[in-house]
Amino acid sequence: MFRTAIAGSLPKPSWLAETGKLWPEWKAAGPELERAKADATLLWLKVQEDAGLAIVGDGEQSRQHFVHGFLARIEGIDFEHKVKMGIRNNRYDAMVPQVVGPLRLAGRVHATEARLVRAHTDRLLKFTLPGPMTIVDTVADRYYGEGKAGRIKMAFAFAELLNQEALALESDGVDIVQFDEPAFNVYMAEAAEWGVAALERAAKGLRCKTAVHICYGYGIQANVDWKATLGEQWRQYEQVFPALARSAIDQVSLECFHSHVPPELMRLLEGKEVMVGVIDVASDRIETPEEIAETIGLALQHVPKERLIACTNCGLAPMRREVAEAKLAALVRGAALASERFA
Ligand code: ZN
Repeated sequence: MFRTAIAGSLPKPSWLAETGKLWPEWKAAGPELERAKADATLLWLKVQEDAGLAIVGDGEQSRQHFVHGFLARIEGIDFEHKVKMGIRNNRYDAMVPQVVGPLRLAGRVHATEARLVRAHTDRLLKFTLPGPMTIVDTVADRYYGEGKAGRIKMAFAFAELLNQEALALESDGVDIVQFDEPAFNVYMAEAAEWGVAALERAAKGLRCKTAVHICYGYGIQANVDWKATLGEQWRQYEQVFPALARSAIDQVSLECFHSHVPPELMRLLEGKEVMVGVIDVASDRIETPEEIAETIGLALQHVPKERLIACTNCGLAPMRREVAEAKLAALVRGAALASERFA
């Protein structure tokens, strides 16, 4: 049976936070909010297990956003005075916090939810963190300085803090630490030049599996519009995969189904485990097992079957809950069909 996993995020229930948004407001505060986050985490763990996923996660229920959730526990960042910034090479504007001084981790970031999930499942547990280059692209800098030199300095500073949290997550019993680096698909030359090195700094010393997720973003309109400008063949991965293949990172999560990524680019990841995106996050239509098995069959032309993990293209956070649930179930049914077909 092909292993199955999700990229990371799942929709937040309407009693926890606003729905259909990338930066949703919480519906409660204080201890009541902490309780609600834990309830949502356990609920999604059960849904993932019931769907039959081999690798499960916390669904990112405890963080407002996949980048800013990590930043909330870092000293040297001013969250009170957010500024508007064009992110992902000005693809869309976001209100981002500002780096105003030396960065230091104030304590554990994700201990509560990681330990909660670990205590309630025996399945492989994957935990996601933002990658250093993507963090740098999602904060405003008032401290590390202009230009590429400043960006690199700040990325390695974040990488050190990510490493501290990643090592602690490993101690909590996490089996796979995944770093999300959508910025690698936007700044390909810099990703190969220093982004992968910063990623390796974040993963340094980990004995558990390490992964990186590189996507074309959530299924929001700004991303759908951007994808329409990328042409017939999306070859962004071609510039970054060779550097990743040489890196110490074990697994790479990429988009496949409904993308224009030439599948043969997966060959550039020789020796790595490949999380192949077989579920489209930009459409509410539920994939059929046949479609999923076909996508897996396509990937198998370039990836050995023991290294293939069936996955979603990206996180499911902005989707409706019932759609996400149906997609999880479809993912496992499709992987099962592929296992029969390609065993
Ligand atoms: Zn993604």
